Order: sequence, then C-alpha cells, then structure tokens
Amino acid sequence: MPETFDAVVVGGSYAGLSAAMQLARARRRVLIVDAGQRRNRFATASHGLIGQDGRAPEAIAADARAQVLAYPTVQWRQATALRADGAIDRFELEDDAGARVAARRLVLATGVVDTLPEIDGLQARWGRSVFHCPYCHGYELDRGRIGVVAVGEVSMHHALMLPDWGTVTFFLDGRFAPDEAQRAALAARGVAVEPARIARVCDRATVELEDGRRIEQDGLFVASRTQVASPLAGQLGCAFEDGPLGAFVRTDAMQATSVPGVFACGDAARGAHSVALAIGDGAMAGTAAHRSLIFG
Ligand SMILES: Cc1cc2nc3c(=O)[nH]c(=O)nc-3n(C[C@H](O)[C@H](O)[C@H](O)COP(=O)(O)OP(=O)(O)OC[C@H]3O[C@@H](n4cnc5c(N)ncnc54)[C@H](O)[C@@H]3O)c2cc1C
Repeated sequence: MPETFDAVVVGGSYAGLSAAMQLARARRRVLIVDAGQRRNRFATASHGLIGQDGRAPEAIAADARAQVLAYPTVQWRQATALRADGAIDRFELEDDAGARVAARRLVLATGVVDTLPEIDGLQARWGRSVFHCPYCHGYELDRGRIGVVAVGEVSMHHALMLPDWGTVTFFLDGRFAPDEAQRAALAARGVAVEPARIARVCDRATVELEDGRRIEQDGLFVASRTQVASPLAGQLGCAFEDGPLGAFVRTDAMQATSVPGVFACGDAARGAHSVALAIGDGAMAGTAAHRSLIFG
C-alpha cells in the first residue's frame, strides 16, 4: 500500500502552494508534487499582485514555497505526476519516477501550457517583449507602440483594449479579417490596421512584413492557445469547460470539480489568468478540500 496523504496537491506554484498552505495550517498531511514548469518562467518581472508588484516570478514562488514547506506536515516532491485513478478517500497517483502515493483528496493546480502562432521570433520573445496580458505587462510599455498579432476574432479583444496602454497597430497576418462594424470599432479606438502577412519578429519587437516593411514596436500582444498542462483531470473523469483561449477544468464556487474529492484551481480551472486569481482560487481549493475531509 503506498504512503497515504490527506491531500496531494499536483502543481507547486502559486495556486498549488496557496491550497497547500490552508491544508498545512489545518495540520493535515499534504504532499505537493511539482514539475517546476511555472507558466510565467519566461518573464523577468510579475505585475499586478498586490504586495509583490514588479518582483521576479521565481522570487515570489520561492518565498511562497519556503513558507509552505516550513509547516511540518507538508512534503515536497519534484516530479511529474503521470497517472491518477481511484475515488474519494482512495485516490492513487503515479509519477515519472514510478513512485506511487495515495490521497484522500486531490487538488489539481497544474496550470496551462501556451501555444503561440508559428511566427519566426515570437516564442523567443515570450514574456520579454511579447505578452498576452495587458494588465500584467501593458503599463511598463509606457504608452509606447504596441502591436497586436491576430490569431482570429478573439484578438479583437486585445486590439480594442490595448489603446488604454499605448498606440496600437493590429497586425492581421492573414489570420483575421475584421468586418465593417469591427473596422469601425477599431477606428473609434484609434487602432491602425495592418493587413500584410508577418515574415518575422526581430530586435525588441520589430515586425517585419512579407512585403519587406519593418514596423518597430515597443511590445507585442498575442492571444496564446492554452491547454491544461496535465492529463490527470481527464484521467479522473473531471468535466471541462470551453474558454475563448482553450478548455479548462470546470469547478464550482468551492473549486470542487465534477468528481467528488477532486479540487482544481489556478489557470487550469479558469478562463482568465493571473497570479492573484490563482492564489485566491488556491486558498478556496485548500479550505474546501480540508472541509470535505471532515464533512464529506
Ligand atoms: C509570459 C507570461 C507572463 C506572465 N506575467 C504575469 C504577470 O506579470 N502577472 C500575473 O498576475 N500573471 C502573469 N502571468 C500569468 C501567470 O503566470 C499565471 O496566471 C500563474 O502562473 C498561474 O498559476 P498556477 O499556479 O495556476 O499555474 P503555474 O504557475 O503555471 O504552475 C503550475 C505548476 O504545476 C506544475 N505541473 C503541471 N503538471 C504537472 C504534473 N502532471 N505533475 C507535477 N506538476 C505539474 C507545473 O510544472 C508548474 O510548476 C504570465 C503568464 C505568462 C505566460
């Protein structure tokens, strides 16, 4: 019989650590399994989390990890959880080192993986001068030149919002054709529309078009496709919900999934993503998992 924990938290970043903190403070035995692939590891600074604004993402996570691991009932395992099965009070989890553990409750805090459009130079600048979240990185562009790279109609949202942060050019790149009403809305917000295809992104955020023109920008925004970072929720039978950028695990107001005893939090379980929201959801998931150990 593998070692049994009150709860296993899969994902030891902002959401998972926040969930584990609540369980630890209730003196419950918690194992955190983490693969070390935080979503914002590409960025040098994290913005928008009160009390931590502008700090390095790793520094925020490291402080949180140290605080949670200071509780004596918490264990940490650096590994990727590959398989989960079982049911409430007797879940089992296997990781990539072949280790198996049992858990009465599971908290899935695995985050998501981003897929960017295949444009030369885009991925290399992700988190440095190519972003997806205006609230996280728009302010630092200092009302400068902002390019929005279209991935489809969903990019209208970026194009219409970002004029609050700078002078916006909407690069359609053959991926989206705004209709008349959408063109009027863009014009009303002062957005320039550039229909040519993008050849590559170079320098800080200069867009080279296939027709040879180079349009210098201070930063680019692109809506990445997101996918829940692990198959565990699917293996357990959790229901998913469709978001504009990708599917995520469906939860209720207590972060409970459709499978009794399984909770989910952070980017993996919501459509809008930030560190602050992940931490809030994690706190709810941790307290809800703890209460369910008592009240069922
Ligand atoms: C480039 C970029 C910049 C960003 N900047 C900001 C910002 O400035 N401010 C802000 O608020 N938000 C920012 N975000 C969003 C922020 O990164 C996320 O909202 C936040 O990281 C979500 O936290 P989380 O704990 O849900 O997931 P994550 O932080 O992604 O952590 C998930 C953890 O689970 C682990 N994991 C996944 N699957 C498994 C498995 N099977 N077994 C074990 N471990 C697993 C991963 O390795 C990872 O460590 C940014 C995102 C990106 C992409």
